[in-house]
Amino acid sequence: MTTTVVIGGSFAGMTAALEIKRKGKGEHKVILIDKSPLFLFIPSLIWVPFGRREIADISFRKEEMLKKKGVDFLLADAQKVDTKTQIVTTDKGDVKYDHLVVCTGPKVKYDVAPGVQEFSYYIGTPNDAMKTRKALEEFKQNPGPIVIGATQSAGCMGAAYEFLFNVEKWLREQNIRKKVDLTWITPEDYLGHFGIDGMPMGESMLKAFMSMFNIHYRTQVGVKEVTKDKVILSTDEELESKFTMLMPPFIGVDFVTNSPDLKATPAGYIPVGDDYRHKEIPNVWAAGIAVQVDLPFTPEKVPFGTPKTGYPSDETGKLTAENILRVTKGRTDLKKKAWGKIPGLCIMDAGKKEVWIISDHLFKPRNFAIMVPNVIYDVMKVSLEKYFLWKMKKGYSFLP
Ligand SMILES: Cc1cc2nc3c(=O)[nH]c(=O)nc-3n(C[C@H](O)[C@H](O)[C@H](O)COP(=O)(O)OP(=O)(O)OC[C@H]3O[C@@H](n4cnc5c(N)ncnc54)[C@H](O)[C@@H]3O)c2cc1C
Repeated sequence: MTTTVVIGGSFAGMTAALEIKRKGKGEHKVILIDKSPLFLFIPSLIWVPFGRREIADISFRKEEMLKKKGVDFLLADAQKVDTKTQIVTTDKGDVKYDHLVVCTGPKVKYDVAPGVQEFSYYIGTPNDAMKTRKALEEFKQNPGPIVIGATQSAGCMGAAYEFLFNVEKWLREQNIRKKVDLTWITPEDYLGHFGIDGMPMGESMLKAFMSMFNIHYRTQVGVKEVTKDKVILSTDEELESKFTMLMPPFIGVDFVTNSPDLKATPAGYIPVGDDYRHKEIPNVWAAGIAVQVDLPFTPEKVPFGTPKTGYPSDETGKLTAENILRVTKGRTDLKKKAWGKIPGLCIMDAGKKEVWIISDHLFKPRNFAIMVPNVIYDVMKVSLEKYFLWKMKKGYSFLP
């Protein structure tokens, strides 16, 4: 019996754990460690600040489903790993493994610039999304300028764009749009770069949206400082702001940075090959955001990263599971797919509108890439949420 310990039970980790158990059956014991009892469909957090979703609508307790599927769940905070003794230390005790899969996602680097943590809002966790809801309710009583965007070194620009267009729609619904100067700031070289060097027609589509919704924008800017009532850009321009939402950079979580054995990159990501196996430690694997991804482009002026979105997180979870099963059978022909060669499948919400972003590869060169706007209703975004929550609740990890 091989014991695999998966740390992190979200897009990547839940998929990896379920797939190892499903395909490995009685020969594999799988222990999933997560500090949260919930599976949360993170993409829908963009709707929580506007009351379009409650956290309960987009999450479920994962333990029961995992138990049914034969995966042991340990609700615990993993603190560090010793790769020589093959023991993970958690706040609930030590756990021994034969194979370890790191799927711990990101930590937010708030200290990217002074004031980012104190004076800007973030929407990437349930707590932060609820705080943002409260701040918008207060803002409504006394509206003024708004700044939304991503800081230097950020990679998750898509979610910030989504929030921008949802705020714009919400302002109109509240009948206060005319009182608000709305500005988008981004380190991207151009609108719609998204950290993947854009898509055909992407820049012109985003420019058309900005003009249609009367949103000012600055590209190739970083954030020097955020204060209570302004955002100071790397260009020294000062933008007045009564409400600021910023997407800061992501780095590796404390579990990774507190485990020198993992030989993580300076940003706290796990160096893996195209088979998602650690480059130096054969029984350590990583999937999802925890993986180090090298950029195929160099930002021109201000640094920014690449988005590590849900689809590749799920895919790398599957690849990791398949490869662990092959290794335990003594096989050496591991399945390989570089992060940038995974298809790009994403839906950008634009406030009850949406844009479908589809390509055969995340990174260039691509043979196929298309952006399709749907200005009637965000039906695909809503359907994807329902589908993914259904799939995960059932534990159907083999589905796309
Ligand atoms: C606001 C927002 C909107 C987004 N929208 C989209 C979108 O529209 N489409 C899309 O494709 N992607 C989107 N993404 C990205 C998507 O959410 C990520 O790609 C996905 O969540 C990555 O999955 P993951 O499993 O790698 O990491 P995560 O989902 O971050 O999960 C990490 C897990 O590890 C656990 N964990 C961390 N540290 C420990 C520890 N020490 N001990 C135990 N457990 C631990 C956490 O509790 C968590 O469950 C969005 C992200 C954000 C923030």
